[in-house]
Amino acid sequence: MEIVSPYKEAIDLVKETGGETNKFCYQCGMCDSVCPWNRVTNFSIRNLVRQATFGLPEFEGEEIWRCTTCGTCPDRCPRGVKQIEVGVSIRRIATEAGITPASIHTVSANLGGEGNPLGEPRKNRGDWAKDISVKPFAEDMEILYFPGCYLAYDGRLKKVAAATVNILNKAGVNFGILGDKENCCGESIRKTGDEELFKRLAKENIKTFIDAGVRRILVSSPHCYHTFLNEYPEFKVNFEIVHITQYLQELISQRRLKLGKKYEKKITYHDPCYLGRHNGIYNEPREVLKQASGKDVLEMFDSRRESLCCGGGGGGIWMDRKKGERFADIRVEQAVATGAEVLVTACPYCIINFEDSRLTLENCDALEVKDITEIVQEVI
Ligand code: SF4
Ligand code: SF4
Repeated sequence: MEIVSPYKEAIDLVKETGGETNKFCYQCGMCDSVCPWNRVTNFSIRNLVRQATFGLPEFEGEEIWRCTTCGTCPDRCPRGVKQIEVGVSIRRIATEAGITPASIHTVSANLGGEGNPLGEPRKNRGDWAKDISVKPFAEDMEILYFPGCYLAYDGRLKKVAAATVNILNKAGVNFGILGDKENCCGESIRKTGDEELFKRLAKENIKTFIDAGVRRILVSSPHCYHTFLNEYPEFKVNFEIVHITQYLQELISQRRLKLGKKYEKKITYHDPCYLGRHNGIYNEPREVLKQASGKDVLEMFDSRRESLCCGGGGGGIWMDRKKGERFADIRVEQAVATGAEVLVTACPYCIINFEDSRLTLENCDALEVKDITEIVQEVI
């Protein structure tokens, strides 16, 4: 039966982008029971999916902006419903109607103007590398290092970019960077519904990669990894994408990188959503950390496929979440409960959220938050 609705055009868009799977939903409620939002408040992706099938949800209010695209519910849905795609298509409709949270509006303007969400000048994008003498990428180099926006500009995360460079130099890798020619990968703004801006950023990056003769790209962010690997092929390109956790394991197994010391502190490891659930990379970081410390990592209560989202995906990193609604707070408490001294991860969004949580929660400030490269750097 054809749906007669003033929103028919919008419903068609939802269908095109994954909504066709909605008809398989038999309302079992599994998606809501596994969603991290239901640990901190009430939220029903099941209702959102249902509303998107028969009408449209309310655009005003927070509901359509909650999903962090963590991947837990599609991973567990017994009927293959594409909840993330449905949620993103609802956001696309809202974005096209000019209804977005103020913070996302600002981020879109920053991305459109300067190519990064922070609104930092494009011309300063390569400045993080000035004092550590990194070469500009050239076609005969073995790999392009693409640090991404936060490692290029954020004071805490520049240390991760520097640790990565230190490791690459120790291993004798012939690499370079694009500096101010680099743009945001566009992954997260796409998940907020700004499809046009995503396409613009992606096309500009692709042209830059092709013009520079790039074949293999090393990334620090799982969000860059995901979009370069799984979304940029929509533009009929095919670069080889390597996440730093994979590359570290490769360099160690090829004996290009020698770990001469042992990391002594107790480590727990957090699987970023876009590395683990979305792309199946669970073992490589654990193996690297085992090589570095001589021990298996301490596993948190929600681990590997069940890893608890930090709250940063799907544009969550740009939204102001109320105290009591921050998943990262729960995650940091889980890390402390393992007895670990260091919470290690491999994603800039996770690091920002965990650093914030460890400082604002009681009795958690002794926990160190580190990127995997910062551990490896200490043992080479
Ligand atoms: S888990 Fe899947 S089938 Fe069950 S309610 Fe959610 S969308 Fe429907
Ligand atoms: S993808 Fe994650 S945050 Fe989004 S609705 Fe599903 S479980 Fe919740």
